[in-house]
Amino acid sequence: MQENSNAASGLDDPFHGAHKDDGMRILVIEDEQKLAEILSRSLRGEGFVVDAAATADDGFHWACQDHYDLIILDLLLPDGSGTEVLRRLRQRRQAVPILILTARSDLEAKVENFDAGADDYLTKPFALPELLVRVRALMRRGPAIKETVLRLADLEVDRLSRQVRRAGRRIDLSPKEYSLLEYFLLNAGRVLSRSMIIDRVWDQSFEGFTNIVDVYVRQLRRKIDEGFEPKLIRTARGLGYSIDPEQSE
Ligand code: CA
Repeated sequence: MQENSNAASGLDDPFHGAHKDDGMRILVIEDEQKLAEILSRSLRGEGFVVDAAATADDGFHWACQDHYDLIILDLLLPDGSGTEVLRRLRQRRQAVPILILTARSDLEAKVENFDAGADDYLTKPFALPELLVRVRALMRRGPAIKETVLRLADLEVDRLSRQVRRAGRRIDLSPKEYSLLEYFLLNAGRVLSRSMIIDRVWDQSFEGFTNIVDVYVRQLRRKIDEGFEPKLIRTARGLGYSIDPEQSE
């Protein structure tokens, strides 16, 4: 691929695509200027609105500030790794599809990047038509993880992997504790009575005492609230429990 232009067409200008028409917006995070230019030009030729960032830092910040329909992310950037950018974006619940560009020698990193939330990857050097096919496929698919993460304050529950984090720290819950927390989060701000909780979290045939709920809520509190602020689980005396960051006890 030959590219003679030295002009940084949009490369250093985050506002290049700021005339927001209804075009699909793509952010290219790639430090090899020629490649970034070729990518930007081809994608614009396909009718996309394209911004290009040359560092991990710029890329991350633009990705956080603006709405993109797709991000094309190089792994080796001058100030950090694309994997780290990917991980930080997913931590912030950015569900935008991300296509990783990787050199052949990075192939071992493929699994790591899929684990970190990549949607697809392309090995350099690649043919532009293949890139465009993948871009269109990813855009058709749209954000994959949008509705699967429940969040309250700094508590995050991924309903696909059933992973729970608070302030970024992983918290291990038993299956019942997890179900209880999920039920709370799906009804955040609402007081749930012990019998509602029993019906939902334990099966219908459960014959135990409703104070099993108190036992489990206490365990859950110890795991997700102890050592954190604000306290999320609230007791409504005589009524039940709710999860709500605004009304800590
Ligand atoms: Ca690079």
